[in-house]
Amino acid sequence: MASIGKFRWITRRFTTHPSAPLRICVVGSGPAGFYTAEKILKAHEKVEVDVIDRLPTPFGLVRSGVAPDHPETKIVTNQFSRVARNERCSFFGNVCLGSSVTLPELREMYNAVVLAYGAESDRSLGIPGEELAGIYAAREFVWWYNGHPDCRNLDPDLKSTDTAVIFGQGNVALDVARILLRPTAELARTDIASHALAALEESSIRKVYLVGRRGPVQAACTAKELREVLGIKDLRIHIQPADLVTTPVDEIEMKNNRIRKRVYELLSKAVTPAHAPHPGQRELHFVFFRKPDKFLESNDRSGHLGGVQLEKTILKGFGDGKWMGTYFHNNVTSFFNSEVQRLSLKSIGYKSIAIDGLPFDSKKGIVPNIGGRVLADASKDHMQYETGLYVCGWLKRGPTGIIGTNLYCAEETLSCISDDVDKGVLTSNSPKPGRDGLLQLLDSRNTRVVTFDAWEKIDAEEKRRGNLKNKPREKLTMWEELLKVVRERLSGTPTDRYAYILEKFQAELQTEYIQIVILVQGFDHALARCQRIFTNSIHHPEPRILVGNCYG
Ligand code: NAP
Repeated sequence: MASIGKFRWITRRFTTHPSAPLRICVVGSGPAGFYTAEKILKAHEKVEVDVIDRLPTPFGLVRSGVAPDHPETKIVTNQFSRVARNERCSFFGNVCLGSSVTLPELREMYNAVVLAYGAESDRSLGIPGEELAGIYAAREFVWWYNGHPDCRNLDPDLKSTDTAVIFGQGNVALDVARILLRPTAELARTDIASHALAALEESSIRKVYLVGRRGPVQAACTAKELREVLGIKDLRIHIQPADLVTTPVDEIEMKNNRIRKRVYELLSKAVTPAHAPHPGQRELHFVFFRKPDKFLESNDRSGHLGGVQLEKTILKGFGDGKWMGTYFHNNVTSFFNSEVQRLSLKSIGYKSIAIDGLPFDSKKGIVPNIGGRVLADASKDHMQYETGLYVCGWLKRGPTGIIGTNLYCAEETLSCISDDVDKGVLTSNSPKPGRDGLLQLLDSRNTRVVTFDAWEKIDAEEKRRGNLKNKPREKLTMWEELLKVVRERLSGTPTDRYAYILEKFQAELQTEYIQIVILVQGFDHALARCQRIFTNSIHHPEPRILVGNCYG
């Protein structure tokens, strides 16, 4: 590593080598992606791994999904950063699979591709009125308060109603309820996005309903997360006593499952004793055995949510390994008044997105696979795998599990990869261009790649801004803002970098100094372009310019 001024240059081996390494690209830099990269690097000494992500920032769900008041869960990013800094690993952000580079192109450039791009869409309820303004997917709301650049401008209206209705009773629903109800003074000390904090400070939401289609014994949340929301200071908890009555089947379920028992016990003890609430006191209502039937349009605001009609459910039958609700259609039992109900959040599960050239099971929202090996056609009796294509995380098993679940998931995918290496299915006998080829392709498409060094500049900037406000970080939440920091810090396409170098070294370039050593990314066309740009820019009779490899 050499350095010029304040810039850091890293020389790397690029071109084919007599014994070329196996080159693997991991798509997605969340927990599934980084755990997979880590495990591959540990298990195989001669493998190079590139992790790409469509965002300029790494860490996926840890950055955009984990609630801001759960800082301990985010510590895992230290481990992921160590992986990214491994000399056999690179991170390239702002690279979108499908638009910056296609899957067939990636498969052509790498010996193997592991898809770990998670679930960036949502299940839908499929009921009338779902498109009305004021109804959001919980994912969007979570991305909004976590500063994801795609939801920076979501701007949910928290001022024209005092009631929010959340559908679903999983941990995401609990996160959202907690953020809506928790005192903002407590949130201000977290890394919550400042636009969200400002909106929550002005919020008039006082009542949050968590609506589940099954009973308190079947609520999808876990005890720790439930305890946390129930423990919010000065919060009144409401549950209809009739909903807490258990059946013999509930008792069996609790006997067989400690978490279900614990959740039920917490709920049954949580109800606030009846006495008049004090003015402005916040309320959390758990509503069981109800499912949304129809969203109603507001009488006074066309196109906006005004209320929601619910159906009553009873538990009957065992489907997909769990008791399912059977619904009394058209037996409307309750609805939220159209004059007050303007905010609804659907927290009924995330969904992965299909991409061109990838087998996809749209019913389950996953890539068909066995243990992480992608199946070419799951409908055929004879199992046929896509050679060199693997999957990990929510894209592999559906949107369930905590961050640590991805550790086991990555281990399973790694064992398929190792197996294929042992069997000679994956080999570097015909070397692939790997990162060299990828960067060349991205450069030709003018994609501004964000390296891990560049991310560290964003990271430092966010921490610096956070420090001024007594928070761990102040996230940069707009695409332009994120890419601007990177541009200023010597990244982006090689052309950007040359322009930046020229600008910074203008003074030296005017002097007698005639030998300049510039290290650029090592593609022939990029080297030639760099030489040309510098030669044309330096007004010296005999400039001697030496170019070599670098990463900005
Ligand atoms: P989830 O746990 O699967 O919960 C989904 C909820 O939506 C359930 O209550 C489910 O009801 C309900 N639902 C699904 N389809 C519905 C429909 N058509 N109508 C009405 N309700 C419907 O999913 P999640 O909350 O999105 O969480 C995803 C994963 O991330 C989970 O494994 C969760 O534990 C994890 N997570 C963990 C943490 C943490 O550890 N702090 C935080 C956030 C998320 P049924 O139960 O009846 O299906």
